[in-house]
Amino acid sequence: MIVSIASGKGGTGKTLVATSLALSLPNKRPVQFLDCDVEEPDAHIFLKPLLTHKQAVSIPIPHIDEKKCTYCGKCAEVCAYNAIAVIKEKVLIFPELCHGCGACSYLCPEGAISEVGREIGVVEVGQSKEIEFIHGKLAIGEMMAPPIIREVKKHINQERLVIIDVSPGTSCPVVEAVKDSDFCLLVTEPTPFGLNDLVLAIEMLHRLAIPCGVVINRGGVGDSNVEEYCHKEGIPILLRIPLDIEIAKLYSRGITLVEGLPQWRETFLRLYNDIELNKK
Ligand code: SF4
Ligand code: SF4
Repeated sequence: MIVSIASGKGGTGKTLVATSLALSLPNKRPVQFLDCDVEEPDAHIFLKPLLTHKQAVSIPIPHIDEKKCTYCGKCAEVCAYNAIAVIKEKVLIFPELCHGCGACSYLCPEGAISEVGREIGVVEVGQSKEIEFIHGKLAIGEMMAPPIIREVKKHINQERLVIIDVSPGTSCPVVEAVKDSDFCLLVTEPTPFGLNDLVLAIEMLHRLAIPCGVVINRGGVGDSNVEEYCHKEGIPILLRIPLDIEIAKLYSRGITLVEGLPQWRETFLRLYNDIELNKK
């Protein structure tokens, strides 16, 4: 089973939920944790894995053979990402915009384009006690998160419960990380911003046909609109975590909720059981 932990909005406590869920389960079933929030992976701070393997991730970008190029402009025409421009007798490549889709080299009528690898980040693999741990890291200044997420997901071990920590929002990296999940847990907070982004995230999951449930973090602040929305839409609220200074202090020190306050372990086990009941 693959469970992704996402949030429409950043800073809602998604990693707090994902790491505590992972740590609550190894006695019940083995867990694999994938941190696909590759722009800002932080689950390693809480799970403290021993990382044993590192692999560079590259994407193929075009290289022009000026001897063969006739400057016809076809490559610039087919590039959906504006990563190539042809100006008079010069072909300009913008590597940061290139998605490595290969369309330009495939369609160049002169066979003037070859592909060269460009490193955009790394995937690291390790172990945190009984938990298999994998995370991706996008290099500073790079924007192409999906290829790194795909590399992280190649490590999925279906013999384990796979927990995926997803980046916030509803953009391409989020879709790449959550697709193929059996269930998605959406962590939000009871504020107008939380509700706005939760609605967008739920719409995205409906389109991907992934069942979901909600965790309300920092309960007690804001209003009841998130609860009312979930009731109206029939989205189950599976966990409520109150605004609590103790939890905030633990988080700031890189300590997970279930390790700092072990009484939460049972609550996370119940959350897991509820996910089992609501999955695809
Ligand atoms: S499509 Fe090929 S020949 Fe035409 S401008 Fe691009 S690289 Fe040159
Ligand atoms: S590989 Fe794709 S994205 Fe990159 S320059 Fe060629 S057409 Fe554009």
